[in-house]
Amino acid sequence: MTRVIDSDFGQRDDEQRDVLADDPPEPVVYAHEIPRRLVDQDAAKVIRRLSRHGHTAYLVGGGVRDLMLGRKPKDFDLATSARPYEVRDLFRNCRVIGRRFRLAHVLFAGGKIIEVATFRRDPSQHYEVIKPKIAHKIPLCAGPEPVRLIPAKSSDTEGDDADLLITNDNVFGEPHEDSIRRDFTINGLFYDLERGEVIDFVGGVADLEEHLLRTIGDPNVRFREDPVRILRAIKFSARLDMGLDPEVYDGMVRHRGDLRRAAAPRVLEEILRFLRGGAAQRSVFLAWDVGVLSEVLPEVASFLDDDVEGAELTFGRLKAVDALAAEDRLPGDAVLMAALLLGPIDEALEGVGDVPLAYEEFVRELSLRLSLPRRLKDRIRLLTMAQRRLRTGRIQSIARREYFADAATLFALDRIARGEELPKWARDPNDAVYEAEPRARRRRRRRRPRN
Ligand code: ATP
Ligand code: MG
Repeated sequence: MTRVIDSDFGQRDDEQRDVLADDPPEPVVYAHEIPRRLVDQDAAKVIRRLSRHGHTAYLVGGGVRDLMLGRKPKDFDLATSARPYEVRDLFRNCRVIGRRFRLAHVLFAGGKIIEVATFRRDPSQHYEVIKPKIAHKIPLCAGPEPVRLIPAKSSDTEGDDADLLITNDNVFGEPHEDSIRRDFTINGLFYDLERGEVIDFVGGVADLEEHLLRTIGDPNVRFREDPVRILRAIKFSARLDMGLDPEVYDGMVRHRGDLRRAAAPRVLEEILRFLRGGAAQRSVFLAWDVGVLSEVLPEVASFLDDDVEGAELTFGRLKAVDALAAEDRLPGDAVLMAALLLGPIDEALEGVGDVPLAYEEFVRELSLRLSLPRRLKDRIRLLTMAQRRLRTGRIQSIARREYFADAATLFALDRIARGEELPKWARDPNDAVYEAEPRARRRRRRRRPRN
């Protein structure tokens, strides 16, 4: 049963709010062929089997978005009407994971996982139907006249004090309900692989065409429900070259302070996705510009604010990271984080007597704030500390260390940012191992003659 709440958030000048339907709403359906080579064949297999057993199954989320943009998706997530245990019973290579939120993982060769989630809804959310007054011109529109749904909360969402943080996200639902609980319109699309159709409840196709990032519903509500969405907005805008809807931009600025109450591992994950996504430079710049960086990484934000040259070098290193990503040579997380943190770390250590202590002081708060896993934290320390040796060309002492290649990569990123030539060992760190001093011949211990 659907109820329309009479409120005016999310309303724009170019749309008209309509009404009330008790039947499930009709999506707009677009015929859209996706080249077979772009679609993961294992995901296609899972969809086919689910459909053959009478379930609805769609590609969903980032995978559909990337396919529509002609990009190769990182992962192929599926949404289905089948319950998790029904999915498990259909696949031998399947396990159901999650305690609170159950998901089916179908496993394939090479460690590939196809995630299959049952359609869900946010129980506190109803939907409203919006009719854009200006119908966009989209070819192949096969559905009824364009509508889009937006979520409407039954609770009091006015005023900044209302606590909207999502706590219950695990109730099964219908496709339209699953679509509107997602974050951005471009992430709310379903793709019916068997019919070659995009199913759009939220106006995501129009926004993809216009390269416009819009939340599904009022950004002020959606960012307060989950502030990590602010970081996701930055990631998508930077990576996919999407314009930010002005209301979305205002919402990000207004609610960026809420990021301090977001779950640290999720914040860290989105920062890592900034760095891994091929648009590290633009992501970090946008985060800085919107004032979000000062919430999640204040030490980096104030370094960028105060040190013009240091800022240039930082963005230069990130640009070099993006160049590696474009060549499919993305370094690991520790190198990425170190490339971002190197400026503030160098600054904190400049001229101090007790370097390890100064380093610990610098990293303590940051690592608590982001819940840096121990391994990542230790690795960042190793790599940044190694730079002091590498800068003086003293590679011998560490050339055989397991972390040398990563340290040399970080060194190379920094040199590139400075527009300086790379020494040979930084161009190909693996060769350096052999160039470094020949290993001193091991002295054989003389066995003591037994008495
Ligand atoms: P990426 O390319 O970085 O993986 P993505 O859009 O695929 O981006 P995921 O974190 O993999 O993001 O999530 C998959 C989908 O789940 C999203 O496309 C979106 O529909 C939904 N989703 C993810 N995070 C949120 C969130 N915080 N709020 C609402 N929906 C979300
Ligand atoms: Mg994804």
